[in-house]
Amino acid sequence: MKKLFLITIFLLLVFTSGCSKQKNENLTDIYERIIKRDELIVGIKYDTEPFGFFNNITQNVDGLDADLAREIAKAILGDEKKVQFKPVTAQNRIWKLNSDEVDMIIATMTVTEERQQVVEFSTPYYFAGQAIMVHKQSEIQSSQDLKNKKVVIVLGTTADKKIHQFAPNAHLQGYRSYTEAFDALKEKRADALVADDSILLGLVLNNSEFKILPKRYTKEPYAIALKKGDDSSKLLFEVNNILKNLEESGKLSRLKRKWIQEK
Ligand code: GLU
Repeated sequence: MKKLFLITIFLLLVFTSGCSKQKNENLTDIYERIIKRDELIVGIKYDTEPFGFFNNITQNVDGLDADLAREIAKAILGDEKKVQFKPVTAQNRIWKLNSDEVDMIIATMTVTEERQQVVEFSTPYYFAGQAIMVHKQSEIQSSQDLKNKKVVIVLGTTADKKIHQFAPNAHLQGYRSYTEAFDALKEKRADALVADDSILLGLVLNNSEFKILPKRYTKEPYAIALKKGDDSSKLLFEVNNILKNLEESGKLSRLKRKWIQEK
């Protein structure tokens, strides 16, 4: 009898622990998933100073996007260290989000109508614009001068989409990362690099032999991207609230001043 009682208790324990494990793994609400995991997983760029970049000295991911991720982890999980960064590129970030590899993307990502079909965007936290970067000695002064010139863009970016509108006769060279794109310009395999001014500023900062031309050709509102659908609605609400608090407290401006030089 005692044996039967013990077997029943054992089976009950196995059954209930199995249930709660299954419940955790099957969590579909992304906010609840973050809480249960006790860690926020963020897709971020590793080569886009001053927004998201791997700092070889500190061995940390740094920049405005990284600090925003830390602020979100602090607000949701009570500790800014409870964030894990995963590197993304412009080409693979939406795929990484939709395959649940990351909870959100904070990666200099512009809100566009096309992207709004496949992801949810937070309210914007930064406004950039596309510009042209050239060697200081270059004779290129505006987009008209890009006719028949070799122009570098990063694949999957808004520059890749929009450059046809302001430089239709440029000969495009597409690269997967800003490091590769900038190398092409440095090694004079190309005449110009077109990208967001915010990103070009980061490149020029460490390479004074280049300049950014004054005109801005597009408007690029940056926002945090979440997976599309009901599973993100609580997280979206929280993220927008956190951004609003950062804005109202002046913290967002302080973070921008910390990372981004005057335009
Ligand atoms: N903001 C642009 C975009 O979302 C370019 C920056 C990037 O490479 O992500 O496409």
